[in-house]
Amino acid sequence: MSLPPLASGPQGPAALRPLLDTVLHALREGARSRGGPLPAGGPQAVAARVRDAVGDVLPQEGDPDALRALVHALAEGSADPADPLCAAHLHCPPLAVATAADLAACVLNPSLDSWDQAPAASELEALVTRALATEAGAADALVTTGGTESNQLALLLARESHGSVRLVCGSNAHHSLTRAAWLLGLPEPVVVPAPRGILDPAALATALAGLTGPLLVAATAGTTDAGLIDPLPEIADLSAHHGARLHIDAAYGGGLLFSDHHRARLTGLDRAHTITLDLHKLGWQPVAAGLLAVHDPHDLHALRHRADYLNADDDTEAGLPDLLGRSLRTTRRPDILKIAVTLKVLGRTGLGSLTDHVCALAQEFARLVRSHPAFELHDRPAISTVLFRPAAASDETVAAVRRTLLLDGRAVLGRARLDGRLWLKATLLNPHTRPGDLAALLNLVEGSTPR
Ligand SMILES: *Cc1c(COP(=O)(O)O)cnc(C)c1O
Repeated sequence: MSLPPLASGPQGPAALRPLLDTVLHALREGARSRGGPLPAGGPQAVAARVRDAVGDVLPQEGDPDALRALVHALAEGSADPADPLCAAHLHCPPLAVATAADLAACVLNPSLDSWDQAPAASELEALVTRALATEAGAADALVTTGGTESNQLALLLARESHGSVRLVCGSNAHHSLTRAAWLLGLPEPVVVPAPRGILDPAALATALAGLTGPLLVAATAGTTDAGLIDPLPEIADLSAHHGARLHIDAAYGGGLLFSDHHRARLTGLDRAHTITLDLHKLGWQPVAAGLLAVHDPHDLHALRHRADYLNADDDTEAGLPDLLGRSLRTTRRPDILKIAVTLKVLGRTGLGSLTDHVCALAQEFARLVRSHPAFELHDRPAISTVLFRPAAASDETVAAVRRTLLLDGRAVLGRARLDGRLWLKATLLNPHTRPGDLAALLNLVEGSTPR
């Protein structure tokens, strides 16, 4: 029997090239058979096509055509964030250059739990995380799988530095924060009202005045539902006044840091003890590309951990970098490579203009909605999210319109409940979207709304 080729080593590139041709061809053909932003027919039709393509999951004899067949099936059945009408979530279309870099990460397979598995990747990670932390006004940053893990780590570091902290967050905060409090066995979080989607500083002041013991205030820079930015300087003042630790979840809004035009809207970010950033949102990275930035690097001592086979004391004393304390994970892929390549290939100007561009698209879409008599706009977009609804429709109709578009495979829109009503949500992250696409999206929604 001939052994399957490896991705790295001297034969790696030659073995990969024809396989990559197969993959790229299958991606193109799969997308062509889908023909829209997501597959038509709903979950049952999609599942049936996948089952057909897969057949026997573990056949007795292997099938070399499975690479083509499964990539084709995945592409045919995907919601493609590169399609302008796929705009539901903070689900970005990844940049080609970041994806190409990620291929190299797969090939070399460095693992960031010990220096002897990642000699160059560990240094690259140290350089890039420090640079990104500086960008956010912090001192260091850990690489995470995304905002959820970053938020969990933020709560863990707070607990380790203050004892059992109580989380105080807005009702607009990401669900992963209260879930992390549950996971870590922290006291029941205090959830402060967020009228119109923004944490209310007066309500926060009242809550803080009535609480004793160590507190962790969590603010949001770019809410998941509406892209709204909490009043960070006021929240930072209140937290400092009450001796509370401050975490800012900038999983979405952190991308504004790259833009000269929008950066000032994150004033106050640098006053947080910890900051969640997520470059698989406004950063155009393939998943995963999360970061947790920390103001005081000493906070990271809480994660120090020894395992003789990875970071023995004598190895560390002899100068081998100790990486295990940079994550709660052990084996860890070099997600930093694609990030580093993107930062350098695009530069601040390139990334900033992508951010500016999607923010401008949101303003343009909001203008279309506002000038259309059949629609109601929630508010001027703060980042690149637009909430809108067919005027005078019931919540049930709004929900049904979204599902109709999904099941027909014609558009992917999200939903958000705000001010007691259900809204359609367009999260615009695709810089290649054109004004004509936005008009087409609105027409589709209008055509799917029963009168
Ligand atoms: C997306 C998001 C998260 C969670 O990030 P994941 O990468 O999905 O884990 C956390 N907070 C906010 C504000 C988000 O928008």
